[in-house]
Amino acid sequence: MEIFEPRLASLRFSPSDVDPSANKEFLRARYGVMVETGAKDEADQETAIFEPLDLISSIDAIMLLREELIKYPPSYVLALGVASIRLVADLQITKSEYYEGLHRVGGAAYSNGQLYVVYYERHRVHTRETIHHELEHLAQDRDEAWKNKIAVLRWICEEWREGQWDGLNRSSGLPFLGEKYWRLSNAERQRLDHSGFVKPHSRLSRREDGATVAGRLMTNPQKLLIQRRCDDQILYQKALHMVGMFNGRTSGKMGGRFFRELEFGFVRESYWR
Ligand SMILES: [Zn+2]
Repeated sequence: MEIFEPRLASLRFSPSDVDPSANKEFLRARYGVMVETGAKDEADQETAIFEPLDLISSIDAIMLLREELIKYPPSYVLALGVASIRLVADLQITKSEYYEGLHRVGGAAYSNGQLYVVYYERHRVHTRETIHHELEHLAQDRDEAWKNKIAVLRWICEEWREGQWDGLNRSSGLPFLGEKYWRLSNAERQRLDHSGFVKPHSRLSRREDGATVAGRLMTNPQKLLIQRRCDDQILYQKALHMVGMFNGRTSGKMGGRFFRELEFGFVRESYWR
């Protein structure tokens, strides 16, 4: 069950925390990320068709983005090469790895570092997950290059990704659906058996499986690392794998200790100073 988080949960903020230009400037200075909320401009991807946010939603969406990005060490986000994050009210993509037609998505990552994230006023948790999900896609694109530099990451990728990750999915008995996933109705997607996976969307492909694990791990580590250890061993193993990936990519900054501290709410803005 999803916990409803009210829009502008600003009681915990001072007026300056809500100031969208201050939040944008903070994210640009610390992470090199340009945050966009307005109408489509010439820098936008042609294949991304979106509705801009209204003013109140954009203020809240930028705050929420700040709350999620501060979980990462600046060096990691800078290494991902995030150029911009555009927060939108609705997003459709005209083309993807698996599908040619127009389809509605919660977010998108382009290999040049442009990210799009849908702000769901009534499902802010979903928006939070999507921020990490799209960042994970950028990381997946960079893992090949990182693997050659970081020995421990190479080991994790090769031992895990090539062997056990697929083995885990085989043991769940549920194959990836590829483009078939996009032909299902929303109701059919919700009915998919996704044991061993975070959510129905994870059944699309190995990339989506990994990105949904990262999204859930960064927003609800206790669910994956404690609860799933008891009721879904496959998903628990995937979560451990993802901790190893973050650990390797950040040279130990985001390892087991970080995720325990994240679980307990100790990861705040001052954490990485
Ligand atoms: Zn994805």
